[in-house]
This record gives sequence, structure tokens and C-alpha cells, in this order.
Amino acid sequence: TEANLVHAQKMEAVGQLTGGIAHDFNNLLMAVLGSLKLLRKRLAPEDAKARQLIENALAGAERGAGLTRRLLAFGRRQPSRPERVELHRLVRGMSDLLRNSLSAAIRFQLRLPPNLPAVQVDANQLELALLNLVVNARDAMPAGGTITITGRVAEPEAEALPPGPYVVLSVTDTGEGMDDATLARATEPFFTTKPAGKGTGLGLPMVQGLALGSGGHFLLRSIPGVGTEAELWLPLSPAEVATEAAPSPAPAAPPR
Ligand code: ADP
Repeated sequence: TEANLVHAQKMEAVGQLTGGIAHDFNNLLMAVLGSLKLLRKRLAPEDAKARQLIENALAGAERGAGLTRRLLAFGRRQPSRPERVELHRLVRGMSDLLRNSLSAAIRFQLRLPPNLPAVQVDANQLELALLNLVVNARDAMPAGGTITITGRVAEPEAEALPPGPYVVLSVTDTGEGMDDATLARATEPFFTTKPAGKGTGLGLPMVQGLALGSGGHFLLRSIPGVGTEAELWLPLSPAEVATEAAPSPAPAAPPR
């Protein structure tokens, strides 16, 4: 659709722009880091104050380098390779990573029904998208709360999407939520309410890009003070569509 095309073009432009800027910026930072390390070597061992200042500058430059690496990775997004993905397997495979990025004050729940059909999506991008959603949920709950990942099969409301069925993967949090103005801009590239160095504003655009690029849909609902629900609608893998759509097998003809 028109909206998808505009979004894809914007993402492409953003990718090129960030890739270019990040590349130049990274080169500059490497020079800064190199000089700081040389300076640290030449410092008199007793000059603790100067050493501390250099350590601070190094830490800042390292953080900047980490950020540019993330931007670079975003800029040279790999072409998407949709494949048959079992969500159980994918989510189980990354649940340690997800849990480890959460504090003990956050409860993490997985609610994937055992018979959830496989979806057709780029598995690496889906992992990144889930990580982005879980990190956003975490950041919205500084004092703790609950993150729940659920899966279900659903038909889209008329006109939102071509008829399905789809698998709806949702990440729900009990965090601070978003007001209408924030919600309206949340998937916009570079929109962030997080402090500099923490947010890039590229998480949700990536998630939305994945959803649209897979022939699916991304939906955010939020209530300030209550929490946020992010829904990723993904198409079933072709083999699954056949089994889901097929009428139940006719009873075998009685022997005669
Ligand atoms: P970033 O996380 O780098 O800020 P995103 O594109 O992932 O970039 O998110 C954009 C903004 O949307 C966030 O800065 C935040 O204001 C808002 N947001 C996203 N997810 C949530 C959430 N689960 N709860 C509250 N606000 C959210």
C-alpha cells in the first residue's frame, strides 16, 4: 500500500543517512580514542587526577563508539530473508538473553500456546525486533513490573490487512505508558524520549519495518500510568496456511 511504500522509502533514506553519518563519526571517534590512549600511556603514574579525567573521556568516547556501531548496523540492514519460523523455538532460544537484560524487579512471562502455527519472517530481524520491544518495555518500568510475551492466531479487522489468519505476537508491559502525542510519533525514525546516549529512536521504526516488510502489521496501544501493548501481526508460513485452511480430513470410506 501507499503507506507501506512511504515507510519503506523513509527507512531506506534513514538507513543511508545514518550509515553515512555513523561511518564518518566512527572514524573521528577512533582518532579521539587513539589519542586518549596514547596520552594515558605518557601520563606520570602519580598523576591520579589527570588519569581519572582521561578515563572519563575514554568511557564517553567508548559509549559514543557503541552507539555508532548500532547506527552502522542499522544503516547496512541486511536484505530480509523470510523463512519458516517456529516462534517457540525462536523465543526459547533468546529467553536467556532477554531475561539477562532485565533487572530482578521485572517479572518476565512467556505465554505461547503449544500449537501456535509457524510464521514466515526473517528470523534474525524478528529476534532484533523482540529485543527492541522488550528493552522498551524494561525502560518504561524503572521501578519494576511485568513483561508478558503472548502469541495467538487472529483475523485482522476489515481493511487493516489482507485476510489472514495471522499470528499476533505481543509484548505487554505494566510501565509508564505513552500519552497520545508520544504514541502518535513513537514509530517515527529518530523520535525518542530517552536521554542522549540511551535512545536512538530507531527501535520501533525497525520493528514496524519488519512487520510491513513481512506482509504484516505493527500496532501499539498504550495507557499512561497503566502500560503498553505492542502487537506484531505476522503472516503464517505457506505450509501452515494450507493446513489451517484445509477442511478437516474426510472420514475414510468404510470398507465394503
Ligand atoms: P528508543 O527506544 O531508542 O527511544 P524507539 O523507536 O524504540 O526508540 O521508541 C521511541 C519512543 O517510544 C521511546 O523513546 C518512548 O518514548 C516510546 N516507547 C516505546 N516503547 C515504549 C513502551 N513500552 N512504554 C512507553 N513508551 C515507549
